[in-house]
Amino acid sequence: MASSVPPDRRPLVISGPSGAGKGTLSQKLIDAHPNTFELTVSHTTRQPRPGEKDGISYHFVSVETYHTLKSNGDLIEDAMYTDDFYGTSKAALAAILDKGLIPILDIEMTGVKQVKANPEFGARYIFIRPRNLDVLEQRLRGRGTESEQKIQARLDQARRELEFAETVGVFDRVIVNDDLERAYEELERFIFELE
Ligand code: ADP
Ligand code: 5GP
Repeated sequence: MASSVPPDRRPLVISGPSGAGKGTLSQKLIDAHPNTFELTVSHTTRQPRPGEKDGISYHFVSVETYHTLKSNGDLIEDAMYTDDFYGTSKAALAAILDKGLIPILDIEMTGVKQVKANPEFGARYIFIRPRNLDVLEQRLRGRGTESEQKIQARLDQARRELEFAETVGVFDRVIVNDDLERAYEELERFIFELE
């Protein structure tokens, strides 16, 4: 790819069901374009997965700390997802903008609705989806990071997310992550406006 500078420098909001490949595609984008994009580090009350590091994957916090952040108005959006809280802090966003980089927010649909309704937050909205729910289930199981109960909760939530993505005017682009390389190229072409 020739250009490493997207003409549109608004934050990227990447949403989609758990297991769709949001993390994989975002990381590919970051690796392919050094010093251009950075993922916002959200706060969450969920337990870390093996290999996840506090302050890098997430800020792993207690429910009390989370509620303090929320009541202090420190979060630009927040949601409850399968019994855990998740939120993007103003500080996480500002840290990336201050470096002159383009923030990527990997957030679920309640958060998408909140930032879309915020006139001060301009962004581009991308939805990553699997070909179908069977593929999603295989990927979630293949990742091996959730209990059976959590996998079922995530699949239930996935149905709602896929329905939400049909709402006209919410997402600027819906990408089917079937073949990873093909999906990545589509993502890159969209972000760099090469089509
Ligand atoms: P998300 O961040 O949306 O929850 P991940 O990026 O963690 O999803 O991907 C879920 C699992 O599916 C991971 O094990 C990842 O390696 C795998 N995966 C992602 N994209 C593809 C693809 N196009 N084909 C096959 N496996 C994929
Ligand atoms: P996971 O537990 O797999 O890391 O994330 C579960 C879901 O929470 C994913 O859909 C992810 O996009 C979403 N998520 C992660 N961080 C945030 C956040 O800060 N805000 C919101 N609204 N959703 C988030």
